[in-house]
Amino acid sequence: MKFLRPRPPLSAGVFLTYRCCCECRHCMYVCSPRWCDYWIDLAGLRVVLEKLVSCFRLYYPPEVFHRRRLLGLNYGLHLTGGEPFLRYDILLRAVEVAKDVGVPGLFVETNCFWCTSREVVYERFRELYDRGLDGVLISVNPFVIEFVPFERIDLAVEIAREVFGEGNVIVFYPIYYHQFKVLGVRGRLRFEDYLSLIGSDYGTYLSPDLILPMGRAVYRLNYIYERYPAKYFFHENCLYDLTRPWHIHVDCFFNYVPGYCAGLSLGDARRLEDILSGLDLDNYPILRALTKGLGELYRFAVENYGYRERKDGYVSKCHLCLDIRLHIFQEARDEFYELQPREFYERLLEELGMRIGAGGGI
Ligand code: SF4
Ligand code: SF4
Repeated sequence: MKFLRPRPPLSAGVFLTYRCCCECRHCMYVCSPRWCDYWIDLAGLRVVLEKLVSCFRLYYPPEVFHRRRLLGLNYGLHLTGGEPFLRYDILLRAVEVAKDVGVPGLFVETNCFWCTSREVVYERFRELYDRGLDGVLISVNPFVIEFVPFERIDLAVEIAREVFGEGNVIVFYPIYYHQFKVLGVRGRLRFEDYLSLIGSDYGTYLSPDLILPMGRAVYRLNYIYERYPAKYFFHENCLYDLTRPWHIHVDCFFNYVPGYCAGLSLGDARRLEDILSGLDLDNYPILRALTKGLGELYRFAVENYGYRERKDGYVSKCHLCLDIRLHIFQEARDEFYELQPREFYERLLEELGMRIGAGGGI
């Protein structure tokens, strides 16, 4: 295959920033307070959203552009991060821009750190609703409550339902929300204490279907998952993941991030038409390898950059992919356009606190 041709997006998320007040162990995008305090440029956001809306029109019936409707994870557009409410002023303006260009199914994702009182939550949700926001996604999981007291999350769910209507509030995931209610969780909860509470049920509550084994999770949580040698994943390729139309992301630097593939960029989303017309894979060796298979990426990294297999194995194909990309980034950080944003790799390497690759991975 010479050209990679992503399909026009039918749903998307836009990172207003990578900066977050939390540092969840499972965060796919390795967000944390240590990221630079960089926020998306609103003029560029308008350009991207206009192009995304043109793509959405290929899929959606015309009437959805003229009315509020129920939200869906893989429908419309969400504003996310990082934590969007860290800069409420920018979030408000981003919502205005999105509604001005006719984005359907617009919602914001939050960890609820800011939900300290009924008045504050109501005021902000109401103001966002009045500016055109259709709904909210509220993160609820065993990692975010290490940082955010459960009462704030619970308050956000209650008031969001009041303001946006029950159908326009996505609790992600309800299984944890109900579990925390039943367990009577108050305040924050350390993950180790959560594990003690759920005992032998952890296979259900921490299944890879719920906690995707990507990003920070593959290093911080790998002890709870089965691990396999690299060759176990060699036959898997990522052509679908790199070209799928649903739930793609655009980050605050305007990288077009395929699916959930943090640290990979298909190009500048402000020139979406260039990306959709096809990427010449001769210019993107890592993407080219991924379209062939994880085995190809592994051989590429071993032969050209001295990558060595981790002795303790890999929990998923995305773990193998990320471990290899981290290694290549260290050896040749400026050689590969597709390894973006650079700070994703810098932050993760900093967190891991050591050089990788030599001596069998991290
Ligand atoms: S709250 Fe969300 S963005 Fe922030 S660290 Fe946790 S998972 Fe990542
Ligand atoms: S293996 Fe890499 S390219 Fe494939 S889905 Fe996972 S992160 Fe994306």
